[in-house]
This record gives sequence, C-alpha cells and structure tokens, in this order.
Amino acid sequence: MTTIAANLQAVRARIAAACLQAGRAPAEVKLLAVSKTWPAEDLRQAVEAGQHYFGESYVQEAQGKQAALADLALEWHFIGPLQSNKTRPVAELFDWVHSIERLKIAQRLSEQRPEGLPPLNVCLQVNVSGEASKSGCDPDEAVALAGAIAVLPRLTLRGLMAIPEPTDDQHHQQAQFARVRMLFQAIKTAHGLNLDTLSMGMSHDLEAAIAEGSTLLRVGTAIFGQRQPA
Ligand SMILES: *Cc1c(COP(=O)(O)O)cnc(C)c1O
Repeated sequence: MTTIAANLQAVRARIAAACLQAGRAPAEVKLLAVSKTWPAEDLRQAVEAGQHYFGESYVQEAQGKQAALADLALEWHFIGPLQSNKTRPVAELFDWVHSIERLKIAQRLSEQRPEGLPPLNVCLQVNVSGEASKSGCDPDEAVALAGAIAVLPRLTLRGLMAIPEPTDDQHHQQAQFARVRMLFQAIKTAHGLNLDTLSMGMSHDLEAAIAEGSTLLRVGTAIFGQRQPA
C-alpha cells in the first residue's frame, strides 16, 4: 500500500471514530483531499485509493493538474483566496468554490459560469476568529451577504466555510466551529434557504469540526504529508 493510501485509510478511520463519538453517520461527512503543492501523480495515487474530491488553492497550479488528470472523473473544489482577475478560469474549471467573501466575486463567478455547465456550488467564507489577517467576511455581514449570493442565477449557495484560529485546545476549536454552525442556522432561517454544507475541519481539528456538525472536511497534511513552505 502507498503512503497516501495508508494515510487516507487513517483519516477515514479518524472520521469514523469522531462520527461515532458525535452520534453522526460517516456518510454525512464528505472528505476533500487538499492537494495544493502536490504533483498530479500524488492525486492519482489518492484516486486509486478511492478519493474523488480534491481541493486546490492556486488557479494556475490546479489547471496543470486538471489537464494531467483529465482522464478521471474528479470533483474539483477551489478553496484559496480569489482575486477578481482570476474568477474566469475558476468559473470554467471548478465544481465548487469555498472561498467567497465578497459579493463582487460571487457576481463575477455567476456571470462567467459557462452555460453548458451546471451552476457553480459555492460557500461563503466567514472569518470567525476575527483575526485581521484571515480571509472571510465579517460574521455580522454573513446573513445579508448570503441572501445576495443565493439569488445569483449561475451559482448554488451550499453553505459556509471557515478556517478558525489554529489552536491545540479542542474546547476553543469547538467554540469557533459552534459559531459557524449558529451562523449557518441563522442564514437558513433568515432566507428560508436549504443549505447543506458546513465546510470546516482540517488535519489537526477534524474531530472538533465533526462534533459541531461539519459536513465537509478539507484535509491536506494528514493525507499527502507536510507541505514545503512556499
Ligand atoms: C491548505 C488548506 C487546508 C488543508 O490544511 P491541512 O492542515 O493541511 O489539512 C484546508 N483548507 C484550506 C482553505 C487550505 O488552504
């Protein structure tokens, strides 16, 4: 078995254990393999181990891998910071975008989503930790912003994404994820939206995220190994 296959198996075992602990069904939690910085061959190994959803953060890097893996039916998620001059390739090449934090970016993605493709699935990214350096909209603006994104014709708003402040304290991790879950409820109630996605939880905090209702984990390091600093 390859290292990547063994790592995937270990991550799936962590997910199963956390779901058991939380009284949830593992089928409710989707695993996204975050493959930024790793070559196409590594993704192919993950595919051979049963993984079909991949998360990428850099447009050009992702384009190269999508071309190299065009023989496979994969689902591609864009999770990185998105500048307005990069929206077109993202609207054309991805199935999901998790990192929407402004209405203007959502509008451009909707306008640029090709007619022949289904609507682009999107999540609104929320800055729950309040760190100035972090991406994501202000939680106080999330309800209004979600309402404005939900009516864009070529997008389907699926839910929220968050990257909490890194901490080893599981209680603090859980408190931040709980804020995201409560905002998610508030948005569904305010707009009567049928949202189904809480994109939260990474290699070091997936257990806390599952305990707070995550439906989509974005896991890189625990599958592919430690990334080299840029
Ligand atoms: C890199 C990245 C991840 C994966 O983080 P790991 O700690 O390697 O699991 C998840 N989400 C986003 C938005 C990322 O940029």
